[in-house]
Amino acid sequence: MIAEHFESASTSTTHRFNVVAALAIALLAMLFVAYSVFDRRAILANGWESAGQIAEHTSLVAEGTLDTTRQLLRSMAFLVRPTTLREPANPALVRSALLKLKEQTEHVMDLLVIDDKGAIQHWTGSGQPPDIRDRSYFTYHGERTTSGLYVGEPTLSKVHANKWFFALSEAIRDDQGRLRYVLVAIVDVALFHERLSVQFKLSSNSQALLADDGTVYARNPDHARYVGKKVSRPRELASLTAGHRVATIVSTSQLDQTERLLSFHHLDHYPLVAVGTIVVSDLLGDWKQRAIMLAGLWLLLAAAIVWLARRANSISRAQSELANLDDLTGLRNRRSILNTASILDRSEAHTGSLSLLMIDIDHFKSINDRFGHQVGDDMLRLVSGVLRTQVRTTDIVGRYGGEEFLVLMPDTGPEGALLVAEKVRRAVADKVIQPVPVTISIGVATTSENDVTLDRTLSRADAALYAAKEAGRNRVHVASPQERLPVAEPDAA
Ligand code: GH3
Ligand code: MG
Ligand code: MG
Repeated sequence: MIAEHFESASTSTTHRFNVVAALAIALLAMLFVAYSVFDRRAILANGWESAGQIAEHTSLVAEGTLDTTRQLLRSMAFLVRPTTLREPANPALVRSALLKLKEQTEHVMDLLVIDDKGAIQHWTGSGQPPDIRDRSYFTYHGERTTSGLYVGEPTLSKVHANKWFFALSEAIRDDQGRLRYVLVAIVDVALFHERLSVQFKLSSNSQALLADDGTVYARNPDHARYVGKKVSRPRELASLTAGHRVATIVSTSQLDQTERLLSFHHLDHYPLVAVGTIVVSDLLGDWKQRAIMLAGLWLLLAAAIVWLARRANSISRAQSELANLDDLTGLRNRRSILNTASILDRSEAHTGSLSLLMIDIDHFKSINDRFGHQVGDDMLRLVSGVLRTQVRTTDIVGRYGGEEFLVLMPDTGPEGALLVAEKVRRAVADKVIQPVPVTISIGVATTSENDVTLDRTLSRADAALYAAKEAGRNRVHVASPQERLPVAEPDAA
C-alpha cells in the first residue's frame, strides 16, 4: 500500500501516456478501417459499372440478333401476303422460297406458315405436318387482335438430342384485324449463345439472356449447364418495367451459390432480360490483400506505440522518482517525505499510529569548520547510509533539512519507535567515526488524538529533538502524547 502511495505522483502521467497511446491506436484503426471501407466501396462501384456494361452489351447483342430474325419473318410475310388475302399461294413455290430462306439464315431449324385454324399451310419440314394447334407460338396470336411478335421460351427439341430451340412468331391479319396467318421461325438457341461467347477478362464474370419469367436462353460461360433452367428472381424480374428497365442487386447466385453483383437490363423491344454478373470475391481479391497488409501495418504501429508508451512511462516514472530524491544522499527529499508522511497520517488514522523520528547531527557545523564542506558532505552520506540500513523495510527515511533527517514509521507506537531510535543512534555513534566520531540526537513523536494535524506531531518531534540536544546530545527523547507545546499566537508573532 505504501508503494502505491509513492508511485501515485507518476501514476497520473503514466495514465496520460496510456490514454494517448490507446487513442492513437484507436485512431489508426479507425483510419485504416475507413480507408478499407472506402476502398471496398470504390471497387464495388467499379464492379457495378462492369456488371452493367456486360448486361448492356448482352442486351444489344440479343436485340440485334432478334431484329435479324424478325427480318426473316418479314421476308416470309412477302411470300404469303400478296396472294393470301385473295387466293392461295402456290405451295411448291412458297416451300422452295422458305427452304432458301432457311438455308440463308444461320441457326434457323424450321419455318412455318400456319393458317387461322392452326393448320400448317407451308413449312420447311418434310412429310406430314404435325398438329401444332395447341403450341403457344400459335395460340398466343389467337388470343390477341393486334399483330405482335411472340418470342417462345427455350424448349428442348424432341427430335434433335440436346438441342434447345425457341419459336419466334408474328401474325398476319386482314383489314378487319382477323387472324389470317401465323408465321413461325423455329430457331436454335445457339444463335444467342454463339454471339454472347466473348472472352471475359475474369472468367468468373458471366452474361445471360433470360425470358421474362427467368428461363435461361443463353449463358456465357457454361451455356450447356444453364440453358433451359429457370432463375427464380421473380422480384427483380417483375421490377423491370417499361419505365424501369435496369435493376441491380448483390446476391448469392442460385445457380452456382457464388456471391455476385447482378445487373438486369430489359430489352427494349423484346420480352427478354439481359443479365451481367461479376463475382464479388474476384473483385475483392486485391482489396482483401490490401486490407490484410493494412491490418499487419496497424499491428506493427500499435506495437510501436505500446513500446513508446512504455518507454515514456518508465522515463517519466524515473524522472518523478528523481524529483523525489535528495541529490546528495539519495534519500527522499523534504517535499517527498512530507508528502508521504501526510498520506500515511491519513491512512494511519484508521489502522494504527505513525511514529516520527526527527534526527539532527550533533555539532555538525564544527565538522564543516574543521574539515571543510567536502568532508561534511561525506559525513552526511555516511549518516544517511547508516539510517537507511538500520530502519525496518517498512520505515521511510528522508533528508528533512541540512543535517536533519526524518524517519516515518508506520504502524509503530512510542515503545517501538524508541527501540528503533536507540538502535539508529547507537549505530551512527559506532559506525561513523572517521575522520571524527559523529553522533546524532533524536526526537521521537507518535501521532495522538491531541494532534489535530500532522504538523502538530512534527512540532512535538522537533521539540523532543530540542530536548535531546538540551540534555547533552547523542541521545533520544520521546515526546509524551499529552505534551502540550507552546504554540505561537498570531498576534504574539
Ligand atoms: P547542533 O548539535 O546544535 O545541531 O549543532 P550544529 O552545528 O549541528 O547545528 P547548526 O544548525 O548550527 O549547524 C548545522 C550546520 O550544518 C550548518 C551548515 O553549514 C551545515 N550543513 C547544512 N547542510 C549541509 C550540507 O549539505 N553539507 C554540508 N557540508 N554542511 C551542511
Ligand atoms: Mg540542525
Ligand atoms: Mg546539528
